[in-house]
Amino acid sequence: MVVVMNVGAPEPQIQAVIERLNRYGFDVHRSSGVQQTVLGAIGVKPDFDVRHIKVLEGVADVYRVTEPYKFASRSWKQENTVVDVRGVGVGGEEVVVMAGPCSVESEEQMEASAAHVAAHGATFLRGGAFKPRSSPYSFQGLGEEGLRILRAAADRHDLRVITEVMEPAQIDVIYPYTDVFQIGARNMQNFSLLKEIGKTDKPVFLKRGLSATVDEWLMSAEYVMAQGNPHVILCERGIRTFETYTRNTLDLSAVPVVKAKSHLPIVVDPSHGTGLRNKVIPMARAAVAAGADGLMVEVHPDPANARSDGPQSLFFEQFVEMMRQIRLIADAIGRTVRAPQRVSV
Ligand code: PEP
Ligand code: MN
Repeated sequence: MVVVMNVGAPEPQIQAVIERLNRYGFDVHRSSGVQQTVLGAIGVKPDFDVRHIKVLEGVADVYRVTEPYKFASRSWKQENTVVDVRGVGVGGEEVVVMAGPCSVESEEQMEASAAHVAAHGATFLRGGAFKPRSSPYSFQGLGEEGLRILRAAADRHDLRVITEVMEPAQIDVIYPYTDVFQIGARNMQNFSLLKEIGKTDKPVFLKRGLSATVDEWLMSAEYVMAQGNPHVILCERGIRTFETYTRNTLDLSAVPVVKAKSHLPIVVDPSHGTGLRNKVIPMARAAVAAGADGLMVEVHPDPANARSDGPQSLFFEQFVEMMRQIRLIADAIGRTVRAPQRVSV
């Protein structure tokens, strides 16, 4: 932590700050210029609230130089983490694609979606069985029946399953059906859910909160990891800004920012990020170019009649085109996207 004193701060003020720092257990290194003194405080605990120092008389500003999180930080683990999801690595050379409808609606819808996305290079099938909807009158999901449909469709096409868990009581219900627990944007700071999910052994897909800073997001990852589950995948899905043309503002700069601060893989969701299907392919291209380790996209066999998020769901042929384009981008930056699978006859 670096403490910058006011220009011309009198010596007794400086001494008082040094004493206080010592009392909090810091070693203090003082450097005094002609007009200003800067104090370096060594040994900051992750949970130390710097405002204790900011409010002292004569202090101009205080800067943290170490992150408030540990397990999620790049300084704790230098090499990239590759999260293994039953043989599919997230965070390695391959840019993985997680695709499927917003909600699980029926056996037919999931079978058609799974067959299509698997044939064109996706490795994960997505679909919500428990849905966090802004309105209590909107479709809330099929619950456990939806999980069964999702798992069966994924298994028929050798896809991994990712689905959302909204509350601790759902963990045991969802556990046998899923490969990855998705924590939705609205639950990014549901700390009791993060703690409970941290006690499981399955990978966790942590979506960024609607108005969360990168540090808050990484602190939420820390909650999961501190409980003993290191298999965290981050997902940028757009944040709230003053812009209204798109549903959210997809913060692609978060990709290189997170890569610098953390070793965890990061996936981008251009479907929720833009909310409009004709914006998904360009942002998917941009996400891969920015260094994303994967994409999560909504795809539906009949978007006009989808029970949720139809307007942002890709048509099947758009999904094929997106895959074709991101293969070109991935190739340009030394990464890969799975090739279309040969259809067996
Ligand atoms: C979803 O993936 O369907 C979803 C609800 O996402 P988010 O939590 O990002 O809004
Ligand atoms: Mn959705």
